[in-house]
Amino acid sequence: MASRQTVSQTLADVMARRPALKTVLRAFEPLLSAQAELAGQLADDARVAAFALAVQDEGRQTERARQGIALLAGIGFSGLGEAVRLCAERLLPLLNELEAMKPRQDALRAFFLQPSKTAELCEGVAEALVSGDEGGLGNLAQGRGLEPAVLHFAAGFVVAPVLRAVTSRLLDDDGQGPWDKQGMWKEGFCPVCGALPVIGWLDRSRLDEKNAFLVGGGGKKHLHCGLCGAAWQFRRNACPACGKEGNDVVEFLRESGAAHGERLDWCTGCRSYCPTVDLREREGDPHMDALALGMMHLDMVAARRKLRPLRRSFWNAF
Ligand SMILES: [Zn+2]
Ligand SMILES: [Zn+2]
Repeated sequence: MASRQTVSQTLADVMARRPALKTVLRAFEPLLSAQAELAGQLADDARVAAFALAVQDEGRQTERARQGIALLAGIGFSGLGEAVRLCAERLLPLLNELEAMKPRQDALRAFFLQPSKTAELCEGVAEALVSGDEGGLGNLAQGRGLEPAVLHFAAGFVVAPVLRAVTSRLLDDDGQGPWDKQGMWKEGFCPVCGALPVIGWLDRSRLDEKNAFLVGGGGKKHLHCGLCGAAWQFRRNACPACGKEGNDVVEFLRESGAAHGERLDWCTGCRSYCPTVDLREREGDPHMDALALGMMHLDMVAARRKLRPLRRSFWNAF
């Protein structure tokens, strides 16, 4: 596999093709770069390693995947609070650059950066986030001057590098997760953290380098989780959100002219969409989070057509 581009490399490619997006992409670049950097740093953290090892039990993983339950759903995050706090320290100042976040910055700092309550708040918010526990998030937000939606959004941002570090420890040498083996995972949400995907891609044909024969014809669809960074295979003719499947379910929306494989896949049933890139139509191996941001011009087209994103991101959330 060719080495994956960094956030900056992918955004530079996009800016060269779409100069109109330069200002806004430059504004968001530090957020994504800092997340990627923290995830790399935390992958070697002893507490993260111990946590990953504990959830990695093969039998348990297989059983969960077969039942369609995300690996981390309902799991306690004890021991990871410090890692979440570290991310908050680094990321909150960047997040507060967003206009919508400015009025909440004091409340967010108070929430994530209280040394005496690290376990209760940082670990609690990570658990609630990954378990889809809206009530739990609401309880944590209550009395702290935060709307649940704002806490949810900020928590997703701050917890992401910790989850990414965990996910990176679950992958094999080819970068594949155990959930992709034998087509075990069939859901549209993430096999590790349960979030809906932020972007999808169609793969290229692959050669087995040792034997020089074709092991995959290409064109298989994969979804990428913007929260924990996991990727998984998914059926091309099905909607990840509502599960509807069939030849007339998924439609494409793409720019006329050279689109470099970029398009939106949207569901005629529930009208949710996911940016998707056909890697057979472009060079290089883009950083998927950066490319999702780089395709924000399509988010605007989708909004005009009253489609809704599968997963909200900081550029289409407020
Ligand atoms: Zn995930
Ligand atoms: Zn749908």
